[in-house]
Amino acid sequence: MNGPRKVSEQWLRDILQLLYRRRNLTRCDIAELTGLNGGSVSRALGRLLEYGTILKVGCIQVSGGRKREVFNLNGEAGFFIALDLEGRSIRFALCNLLGDIRYRWEQDLQYGEPLEFRALCEGVGRIVGNLDARQLSRVLAAGVSYPGLLDEEGRVTAVNLGWHKFPLAAELRKAVNLPVFLEHDTRTCVLAERWLGRAQRHENALFVIVERGIGLGILMDGRPVEGWRNKAGEIGHWALDPKAPDQCGCGQRGCLEAIASGPSMVRQYVERAGPHERAANLRAADIFEKARRGDPIAAAVLERAARALGLAVSNAVKLLNPQIVIFGGDIIAGEDLMMPLIKEEIRLRALPDLLHGVEVTVSGLGLDIRLKGAASLAFRGALRESSALQKMCGPVLSSEAQASPLVQTL
Ligand SMILES: [Zn+2]
Repeated sequence: MNGPRKVSEQWLRDILQLLYRRRNLTRCDIAELTGLNGGSVSRALGRLLEYGTILKVGCIQVSGGRKREVFNLNGEAGFFIALDLEGRSIRFALCNLLGDIRYRWEQDLQYGEPLEFRALCEGVGRIVGNLDARQLSRVLAAGVSYPGLLDEEGRVTAVNLGWHKFPLAAELRKAVNLPVFLEHDTRTCVLAERWLGRAQRHENALFVIVERGIGLGILMDGRPVEGWRNKAGEIGHWALDPKAPDQCGCGQRGCLEAIASGPSMVRQYVERAGPHERAANLRAADIFEKARRGDPIAAAVLERAARALGLAVSNAVKLLNPQIVIFGGDIIAGEDLMMPLIKEEIRLRALPDLLHGVEVTVSGLGLDIRLKGAASLAFRGALRESSALQKMCGPVLSSEAQASPLVQTL
């Protein structure tokens, strides 16, 4: 990569990573924010412009009437495969260099039945099948948000996938012939917030995801917390009310998840509303809608869930001292109802000194946050791998170019 123009890989890495986070920057912004000198920035920008990795997107006028060019990443210069393996379906996305989802595919799981690896490859085939040869040659890496446990050999054990020590990292790398990067689902969420969302300016953040289960992603001093067995953040099984009748999937009673997860809210509503309400037909969003229409049972169920979440998070705030707490998943659809109650409960329970200045908010990254996080993981991983970085910063092949090995393997 160090040709006659002497462009260091590290300059390219620093500039691309900055543009991914901040978008639309001038040469001066880039020099200031990366700490690189003007000459290095100019040479690296020249290289990135020449091969179309970045684009000039306009000019801004600065004091004295001078104009400065504004640069951004070229979305078409690279693509990433993103997989989200959590939950009752698996989700696939093809994201561009800007992290935007271009193609998306979702496939139901037979919960607990072993997921055939072939089905995973078929899903990847569907999302890359829309690309032409030129675009295929720019697929740079894959990112995976996995549930359960990952061991040191890259093997995944996850109940929803029916996998026990499945060698996912090695098999996927072989199938797609690309670098593959994996991250646990709750950490994928908090990292997505750190790289793309509301935690960009925070080194200490919590991400609470409420869906089938409840998990906590923890960012401490800029790093995601993993724990001894890679299981830090199992907030869903905090015993909030051990004498409560709510049976949890873990065998205990009164866990946070048994009171405040989406299916638990539905279960409580059906128990109280009577047999004419069928749990199979309802989702958390339906309970929110019923509450908005004045249904007192729905309102009571979501108040109990919100207060349980507020109590759990107030304890997490005391333990971890974050600057921001972000909620995602089912809560997004019930933000208007749930967040005021959650915030009130946190305020009642947390110590004033610890709570002062802590932002409590809802994610702006939506329900595909893990796909967006997995794509960001792949982008950052690709920057670190010299071969992927060279592809990202190299000449774009013509559309007649030979198809990438991806087509032959999937
Ligand atoms: Zn439990």
